[in-house]
Amino acid sequence: MALAEFDLISRYFAVHAPQHPNNQLGIGDDCALLNLPVGYQLAVTTDTMVENVHFFADADPYLLGHKLLAVNLSDLAAMGAEPFAVTLALTLPAVDASWLQAFSSGFMALARRFNVDLMGGDTTSGPLTLTVQAMGSVPQGRALLRSQAKVGDLIFVTGMLGDAGLGLKIAQGFQCGDAELPLSRFNQPLPRIAEGMALRGIAHACIDISDGVASDLGHILKRSQVGACLQWSQLPLSAQVLHYIKQSGDWQMPLTAGDDYELCFTAPAEVQSQLPANCHCIGVIEADPGLRIQHGDNLQTIEAKGFEHFS
Ligand code: ADP
Ligand code: MG
Repeated sequence: MALAEFDLISRYFAVHAPQHPNNQLGIGDDCALLNLPVGYQLAVTTDTMVENVHFFADADPYLLGHKLLAVNLSDLAAMGAEPFAVTLALTLPAVDASWLQAFSSGFMALARRFNVDLMGGDTTSGPLTLTVQAMGSVPQGRALLRSQAKVGDLIFVTGMLGDAGLGLKIAQGFQCGDAELPLSRFNQPLPRIAEGMALRGIAHACIDISDGVASDLGHILKRSQVGACLQWSQLPLSAQVLHYIKQSGDWQMPLTAGDDYELCFTAPAEVQSQLPANCHCIGVIEADPGLRIQHGDNLQTIEAKGFEHFS
């Protein structure tokens, strides 16, 4: 789709000149040119969203553009990196102008909010598949790794748990009195960039919660060769999630539902007063491997099972 491809790129995607000082040359040449200040490392991540796997065929394209970028920026947040550039690979079944207008608006609005420039990409025809590569910078040696949790660290999460999981249930037909917050947490997660950057030099290990805190904290535990015990009574839960649990009895939902895109991190108790305001302590790192949760009088082991594509 040679001519249409260039029209499409210039109309919907090459709409801003690069703004971030790291970004020298954007869309239009064979490659983009990026500069990294001396003393910084490049953090790079990529995530793909496939129709009928990651989103419904009738998904709102504006929200899709937002979420595609948000999930990629969330990985940079989890490393303590400051995002500055992204590329976008689009595989489209057809050129649908109103879909592209809405998708690019959602994508670009979030990009501008975080001072991220779209620096290039690729456009092909085929089943709807959306891929972003995101690049960020982090001072040399100060990235937040999954492998650095220490026995005795407290475990924290930013924001609330389970709202996005409830939002998905609502999108699938579950009735909930006040659906607005859970739906917006599911459709328009906000990457915790400021929090991730503020945790440099304070947190030990960090990950973003895409598959549920049980599964994602499980990655920290494995990489750090430690275990953990969570306190159910300390989980930050919205009124809507508490109501859902009361109705369904499904008290594990906020631990196992995905899509929250909050950060989960470990840090020594001494630094608790230096943490960003929206952080909640939910448990402690222990030497004994595995993940346990104190729920009422019961201490239960939880299987950390997230969504797996090939199982
Ligand atoms: P090439 O054939 O050299 O790979 P393309 O024809 O694929 O170049 O792309 C032309 C320019 O448009 C390049 O700068 C590329 O990065 C950019 N581009 C292509 N598709 C997209 C897209 N979906 N979003 C942003 N930039 C894009
Ligand atoms: Mg190409």
